[in-house]
Amino acid sequence: MLKLLPLMLAVAVTACAKKTEEKKNSIKPSKVVATNQSLHPIVVESDKSKSLCSVMKYEDSQRNLSLSLFLRGEDTDEERVFAGLIEELFVRDLGAKIISQSHKGQSVLQTFTSTDGVVSGEEKELSAASNVTVCPDDGKYAKGSAESVALNATFFISKVNRKVSELLPSVKINPISVEVTPMIKKKLQVIDKGIVIWEYEAFDTDNAYYMPGTDSITFLPHSEEFRQMGYKMNFWEVPMVAAHEYGHHIFQTINPTPEEKSAHLNCFGKMGMKSNVAPEAEVEAREVANDDVLGALNEGFADLISFYSLDNQERGLKGVPCLEIARDVSSKTFADGTPKNFTAAALESFFSDKETEPASGCSIPNFQDIHILGAVFANSVDRFLTGATDTKDQRLLIVLNWLQEMKVKQAGMKTLAPKDFLRESFKLFIETAVAKTDNKMDAADCALVTEIYPGLEASIAACQPAI
Ligand SMILES: [Zn+2]
Repeated sequence: MLKLLPLMLAVAVTACAKKTEEKKNSIKPSKVVATNQSLHPIVVESDKSKSLCSVMKYEDSQRNLSLSLFLRGEDTDEERVFAGLIEELFVRDLGAKIISQSHKGQSVLQTFTSTDGVVSGEEKELSAASNVTVCPDDGKYAKGSAESVALNATFFISKVNRKVSELLPSVKINPISVEVTPMIKKKLQVIDKGIVIWEYEAFDTDNAYYMPGTDSITFLPHSEEFRQMGYKMNFWEVPMVAAHEYGHHIFQTINPTPEEKSAHLNCFGKMGMKSNVAPEAEVEAREVANDDVLGALNEGFADLISFYSLDNQERGLKGVPCLEIARDVSSKTFADGTPKNFTAAALESFFSDKETEPASGCSIPNFQDIHILGAVFANSVDRFLTGATDTKDQRLLIVLNWLQEMKVKQAGMKTLAPKDFLRESFKLFIETAVAKTDNKMDAADCALVTEIYPGLEASIAACQPAI
C-alpha cells in the first residue's frame, strides 16, 4: 500500500514536504524538517468489544451508525445513515466503487542512508494491513478505534463523491482505499568515511494525506506530544479533513499531475508547528515553479470541495487550533487579521527565493506554505461566487468547471513565469465564473477583483474604462 519513493533524506523525514529531485552527490541532509514526526505515536486498535457478531451481514435495518466527531469545538456523537456504505462486513460502499477497502494495522520501516553522499532507501513491511470490518450487532464503535476512523472516513468521502458525481456525471472517479493510522517508522543515517555522523528515527504522525500513485487516503496516528500541546481532536473526527483529502483525488482525476512531477504530497497541513533543523543544515535557495503554484491551487481546491460538499454544520473547523480561521473558507482574514487577498506582499513571499523564518505560534500566515496561499485562493473564489450564485451546488460546479478549463488551457500556460501562471489561473476562474453565471462583469465585480488580486483588473477588458 505504501510505496517507497526515491527521495532525498531531507524529504524522507517529513510526510508532507515538497518533493525534490534526488541528488546523487548531496553530502548532508540539506535540511530536515521534523514536523509531524514523533517517537510516541498513539496506537489505534480495533474495538475489542465488537469482535463477536451474532449475525454476519449488515442489513438495511441496521444501517444507522453513530459517529464520534469533533464539531462546533467539542466532541460529539452523531447518527448518520449508512445506506450502501457497508458491504458484507467491510467498511466500503456496495460494489467498492467509491472506497475500494479500508485497511488497518500496517507497520512499515523506511530506511534512508546517505553513505559518502550517495543516498539509498529501502522499505520493509513489518506487519501487513488487514481489512477493517464492522459488526452489525451495535450501531456504535468506540471513539478512536480503527472502525470509528474507517466509518468516519467512508461516510464523508462518500458524501463528497456522491455530490461531485451528481454535478459532473461524465467524470469517472477511481475508488480509493482508506489507510487507518499505519505505523510508518523512518530511520535516517548519514555515514561519512565509515563513521555514522548523524542518525534520526521517528514515526510519521499528526496528519492526513492523499497519495495519487496508490489512490489512497492515509490518516496518520496522533502522538503524545500532540496531545500535550493541547490538541485534543483527531483529524479523522473532523469531517473537513477527509473531505479535503478526497478533494485532492478529485483534482487528480480532473487534472492529473504525473506522479513523478507532482511537487507535493497532498497533506492536510502542518498546523504551524515549529520546524527542527538538523545540525549543519545548508539553507538552499527556494525555487518556486508552476508546479508549486498548482500545488497551492490544489490545496485551495480541496478546501473548496470540502466546504461546498459537506453540510454547513459538518464543515466547520471551530476549536481546531491553527486551522479554525486560516482554513475556514468563509473567513476573509487569517487569525491575525491579514486579509485573504493576493496582495503584492503575499505574492512576494510565496515567490521569494529566500525561505521565511517560521513565526512562533500559528496566527501569522506563512505565505510560503501552499496551504496558506491555497486558503487565499479558496476564500477569494468563495467571495466572488457568493454574490453571483444562490446555492453551494452552483458554486461547487463552477469550481469543478474551472479545473476542467485549467486542464484544457494549462499546456498553453506552462511557459509562463510562475507569477504569471498564478495570475492567469485566477483570471481563468473569473472567466469561468462569469461564463457560468450572468455572463457579464459589472463595476462591483471589477472592484472585487481589484480587492482580491490587485492589478488583475487591468487584464480584464470589461473592467477597463470606456474610451
Ligand atoms: Zn491538502
